[in-house]
Amino acid sequence: MTAARGRPRTGSWPVRRLPRPMVAVLVTVVAVAAALVAGGLVLLPAGPGTGTAALGALGLVTLGVLHTELATGIERVRRRVAHASYFDLSSVWTFAGALLLPPALAGLGVVVIYGHLWWRVWRPAGAALYRHVYTTATVVLAAYAAAAIVAPERLVVAAGVGPGSMLAGYGALLLAMLVYVLVNQTLIALALALTTGRRFAWRGVLGDGDDHVLEGATLCLAVLAALAAMRQPLLVLLVLPPLLVLHRAVLIRQLEERANTDAKTGLLTAGAWRGRAHRALARARRRHGAVAVLILDLDHFKSVNDGYGHLAGDEVLAAVAGTLTAQVRDHDPVGRFGGEEFVVLLAGLPAGPEGGELAHAAAERIRRTVRGLAVDVDAPGGPLTITDLSVSVGVAVSGPDGESLDALMQVADHALYAAKRAGRNRVRLGRAGVEPGGDA
Ligand code: GH3
Ligand code: MG
Ligand code: MG
Repeated sequence: MTAARGRPRTGSWPVRRLPRPMVAVLVTVVAVAAALVAGGLVLLPAGPGTGTAALGALGLVTLGVLHTELATGIERVRRRVAHASYFDLSSVWTFAGALLLPPALAGLGVVVIYGHLWWRVWRPAGAALYRHVYTTATVVLAAYAAAAIVAPERLVVAAGVGPGSMLAGYGALLLAMLVYVLVNQTLIALALALTTGRRFAWRGVLGDGDDHVLEGATLCLAVLAALAAMRQPLLVLLVLPPLLVLHRAVLIRQLEERANTDAKTGLLTAGAWRGRAHRALARARRRHGAVAVLILDLDHFKSVNDGYGHLAGDEVLAAVAGTLTAQVRDHDPVGRFGGEEFVVLLAGLPAGPEGGELAHAAAERIRRTVRGLAVDVDAPGGPLTITDLSVSVGVAVSGPDGESLDALMQVADHALYAAKRAGRNRVRLGRAGVEPGGDA
């Protein structure tokens, strides 16, 4: 491992360091949202209808602000124990606004609620302003899209206070929910793809099961709030207690996630990795496929610590962890086994020699990428770049005999030691019951 001094480290993305395409998307999304709200407000017809709508918007915004104030109490507890980022359930108010109000007023409501969120939650947390502005604009666009589907006349139908088919009203509500989530998530996933350089993934748009449950629950409360507002505005207050309970549900989910995440690397903890690996192995057995277990150990890592300090060592560990996740598929679990040792499970491999070849190729790719890493670190003597890192990898592939995870790990561990003995910076493929031989 060698190091070169120079280049100061890059911090979190200030807007001028954003990739060009992201700047273009940011400017477009914000400009369209601003034009829609400003233009819509100018074009609002003067009259008693608009007056009532403005009062409604004021009511929703007041509730949104009250909600943020009450929720930050819970969030403060969470930050003490979890350090995770604020989970924002304000779509209760923004979606209700989209259902009830002329879109321009709903959009204005979004801007006020998100402005207050910035002031109370995100600014004190040191978040980047442009990100919050972008998020606000995506919510405005989502609200516009939802409002286009459920004009207030339809809501009246769904509430059963106007003429027309209630079923059609419900259908429109459901569609509006879907469109609201899709517009929002697509724009966020697009920003993520553009800022991280990763490919745009519909998986990212669709989120995971728990996210759906939460978003779904929030939007259901929004619909109830909107329906209550049509009949008896004071009843909307009843939405607040369940909403605060929902914040507790978020807390539990985030604590769970934190318990499964290694703080230094962001990878799975060894225990969480085992759980995922067990499930992947069972799935492979059912489908007559195979999995591979990779155990990786950084070579001469002690000399990184000795040469540049433990904090620099930690930065190297984080960089290697990033490489591992980038080199495997999203659903292949990657964990920190301990110290400078990592475990990867490659799921869904074909059975037979082809699976072994694919696993070996993946391990080789990881080895080469780690070899090519240049990690910018803050060493005691100033910033420098560490290069010439290397990793030894032991690989085990499941066969038709239905080995246990422990047996596979034994094989991979033996193979890893063989790679170390053979001179490090290499991959060895182990076989059950066979001492690992030459470079597979
Ligand atoms: P080998 O090629 O044989 O694997 O040599 P090595 O130096 O990598 O192995 P050794 O087991 O001698 O040393 C592992 C080092 O990893 C020692 C320990 O201080 C360091 N280490 C373990 N966990 C952490 C950590 O969380 N942060 C840092 N900075 N270092 C760690
Ligand atoms: Mg080790
Ligand atoms: Mg080591």
